[in-house]
Amino acid sequence: NIIISCEKIHYKYPDGTYALKGLNINIENGKKIGILGPNGAGKTTLFFHLNGLYKPDYGKIYFEGKEVVYDRKNLKYLRSKVGIVFQDSDAQLFSSSVYEEISFGIMNLNLPKNEVKKRIDYVITKLKIENLVNRPTHFLSGGEKKKVAIASILAMSPEVIILDEPLANVDSKAADEIIEILNQLNSENKTIIISSHNPDNIYSWADYIYVLYDGNILGEGTPYEIFSND
Ligand code: ADP
Ligand code: ADP
Repeated sequence: NIIISCEKIHYKYPDGTYALKGLNINIENGKKIGILGPNGAGKTTLFFHLNGLYKPDYGKIYFEGKEVVYDRKNLKYLRSKVGIVFQDSDAQLFSSSVYEEISFGIMNLNLPKNEVKKRIDYVITKLKIENLVNRPTHFLSGGEKKKVAIASILAMSPEVIILDEPLANVDSKAADEIIEILNQLNSENKTIIISSHNPDNIYSWADYIYVLYDGNILGEGTPYEIFSND
């Protein structure tokens, strides 16, 4: 059961940088997917296509079997279903307090007030960040910021959660906690996609891996298939 697929997508930045060169990707529902590749490979650019922030120059993207339509209504739906946790937490977190931060995205979904509160309480408990709720985001550690960013995405109740280099700038204890949270979400049938430039972070975790290099897919398969070949 494929939840997102990309069919030969190409993307050039306005300055001419050719970032994606015809990618075919099929993301299976409920799986743990690793996107492996060095800096500049195109991981972030790909992610921005998966939730409709960028539109491919050529090629097509399908979500839940339907071709993505780039109008306001469809994009709002897609962005609530495919959440991205950015690599740079400071770029994602712009509210002054943790509670406000977690409320921000979900407030735009026009949900009843009690549903908003219910979801916020749920993600705070889920991420075990009760102790952070009344603190200013600015002074949190890297790992704490990452958890708050995950909570704010999770409050939207996405089916797919994408994390761009989630273990960068995070200490090893927080990294283990984050992986545990992601594994728990995956056990609840959420599809989780993680990028990394470091195979160690992906090898033992992912069900399926895409290797990206210079805007192309160099290989794909189970970790065993990927790492036994070369
Ligand atoms: P990764 O996430 O794997 O590090 P990116 O998707 O960020 O890779 O970048 C892919 C390519 O696109 C790189 O060559 C990068 O320099 C380029 N790139 C990224 N963002 C921009 C931008 N805003 N304008 C021009 N080129 C960009
Ligand atoms: P710990 O590293 O605390 O001993 P476990 O071995 O219980 O954690 O790992 C729990 C799950 O998370 C396993 O599937 C493991 O492969 C994965 N995992 C642990 N550390 C990482 C990491 N740094 N990156 C990706 N996955 C990881």
